[in-house]
Amino acid sequence: MVSTTNSINTTSPNFDLGNWLENIIQNRSEAEKQALIDACNWAEEIHQTRTYADKPYLIHVITVANILAQLGMDTDVLIAAILHDVIDNVDLYEIEKRFGSTVMKLVDGVAKMKFIEELNSQIDTHKQTERLRKMLLAMAEDIRVVLIKLADRLDNMRTLRNQSKEKQQRAAHETLELFAPLANRLGIWQIKWELEDLSLRYLEPETYQRMAKLLDERRLDRESYIQQIMTSLSDELLKINIKADVSGRPKHIYSIWHKMQRKGVEFEEIFDVRAVRILVKTVTECYMALGVIHNKWQPMRNEFDDYIANPKNNNYQSLHTAVIGPEQKIFEVHIRTFEMHHHAELGVASHWRYQEDFNKQDANFEQKIAWLRRMLQWKDEDAGDFIDRFKSEIFEDRVYVLSPQGEVMDLPQGVTPLDFAYYIHTELGHCCRGAKINNRIVPLTYILKSGDLVEILSSNIEKPSRDWLLPQAGYLATSKARSRVRQWFKKQDNHQHINEGRSLLERVLRRLNIRVCNYEQLSKDLNFKSIDKLLIAIGKGEVTTIQIANTFQEQVLSAKKPVKAITENKSATEIHVDGVGGLLTKLAGCCNPKPHDRIIGYISQERGVVIHLRDCPNALRWQDEGNKRLIEVDWSQPNNLKPSYPINIQVNSFDRPGLLFDVCNVITREHINITATDSKSHNNHVDMNFTLEINDLEQLSRTLSKIDNLTNVMKVWRKS
Ligand code: MN
Repeated sequence: MVSTTNSINTTSPNFDLGNWLENIIQNRSEAEKQALIDACNWAEEIHQTRTYADKPYLIHVITVANILAQLGMDTDVLIAAILHDVIDNVDLYEIEKRFGSTVMKLVDGVAKMKFIEELNSQIDTHKQTERLRKMLLAMAEDIRVVLIKLADRLDNMRTLRNQSKEKQQRAAHETLELFAPLANRLGIWQIKWELEDLSLRYLEPETYQRMAKLLDERRLDRESYIQQIMTSLSDELLKINIKADVSGRPKHIYSIWHKMQRKGVEFEEIFDVRAVRILVKTVTECYMALGVIHNKWQPMRNEFDDYIANPKNNNYQSLHTAVIGPEQKIFEVHIRTFEMHHHAELGVASHWRYQEDFNKQDANFEQKIAWLRRMLQWKDEDAGDFIDRFKSEIFEDRVYVLSPQGEVMDLPQGVTPLDFAYYIHTELGHCCRGAKINNRIVPLTYILKSGDLVEILSSNIEKPSRDWLLPQAGYLATSKARSRVRQWFKKQDNHQHINEGRSLLERVLRRLNIRVCNYEQLSKDLNFKSIDKLLIAIGKGEVTTIQIANTFQEQVLSAKKPVKAITENKSATEIHVDGVGGLLTKLAGCCNPKPHDRIIGYISQERGVVIHLRDCPNALRWQDEGNKRLIEVDWSQPNNLKPSYPINIQVNSFDRPGLLFDVCNVITREHINITATDSKSHNNHVDMNFTLEINDLEQLSRTLSKIDNLTNVMKVWRKS
């Protein structure tokens, strides 16, 4: 990771800008040197007598730049840091003109993050903060913006002493919630620990003081103790031919306090106040190193953990032990191979994940951050490459946008304001009419970008459009929102089916002259769970009017006496040819139709009409050829075998020539006997009455419906 290369104290009273610049511009190109000097002069000119925490403002921006220099950041970042607070006084164009577009974008990015910070102070939930963190990372197209912001925040925290108590608390809280975890995720431990310690100092001043006291040795002392251990360990390991990378892991007040809180233990029980990490080549060397340590110092009982043999759930592998070192001080040791370390750094068990008890199982995000940490470690890489890769790889699948209330929404890439509306609430989606992004009206097909402030314009009437469902129209990117729209239309369609079903049912009842109908009973009779379901089925045509008529058979006919009993037993194979009587018929030998099969007739030269099955291969071929000799035929209705009942019907219509003939034709085609008829005309109207002999209600209903469809017929119904 980055290391301290520059130790000039910018806040000391003896600080000399010239010296600092001299130091900073070493090893940079002439152009870069000049740009840095220009930036300092320009910032000085702009800020003039402005102060920050009782010091010239220039000191603040130089300190921020200095922190970044210590992290090994490039010249553009240092210039942007020096200019990070000038945006109120100069416009971006001026910055671009003087220092190029990269610096301008960095300065602009830092300014934008300020707006997010302000939002965070309004809303304070854990989930919200988590999303804000992601949003900050996603918004900063260039990760260096986040680094400048962190350095800025670090100097803010360092100079909080003279602020009001309220301001201290708020800044400390925000830092602990937002910026320290960001630093942690980016692997910048130097900033992370300092932010945490400073926050604790203001949030829990008493605890902080007590802890500081408990750490009776100063940080420097602890570090020199660790240094002593490291040297001695390296020597011991070299004796048995192990080349190890031994490093100290000095702990900080916040992390010790956090551990005490988490484990509910006292300070004395925390062993890892001093900690050492040993990296070796092989697993065998891990255990050999452990042997060396246990030989040299007395191990603490119950403090040895073998996560190499038993890796943690997240695949973290390491040996952990604690021993009593020189001066009877306990220190903790982690031993692992370079490969394990690398693996741990890479996310599945990356260091921050292991150290903090994150209960979020967002593996995808963690993986990306792990990748980011790896990227940050390749300091030598060309900056342009790094930024390009950052832009293209990280967060490519999520966008983070804001509601007007300042709530951060985490949405998939490519979503529109309409998706956003459905994400907030289904009803808001249905009522959505338009949208504003950052206070400007945009089309509903606008693609949201991270950091957009989204406001939905809605009416109070639900009115989704069918166009929203068309993928090529680009209204909705999420399948979830599309399914909401589909559901709405289905509901509407059902509504329409119910209306249509109801009017169809009412028409059937009117025709059959059924005045009282128990809809619930009818639904049950037709096997529907509810009246609505029945009506939908009728409306969609899944239940025919004939099926409905059948259910009234009993009710209508039981009171009537049949006019004919079963008296004769005529041949059941009698065949009726549509429109033509008395033709000679013969059953075809090729397919042998049986009564009730679906049949078709073929007019032969000599044998009259030959009856084939409708799907007989010969018949099919003739149908395909459009053979003119094919005629419609049907098995004769053995009417006279069934009982028939006398029924009176009335037909009201506008008169026209041939109407009576047409009505009679419909009736006789249904093989119904007409036993009486009577017709009265007045003005242009005609009322016709018929007495029919019907076999069942199905037959009647079908007949009534056919009469109803004749031209000029207004109304037809069964008379009681
Ligand atoms: Mn600042």
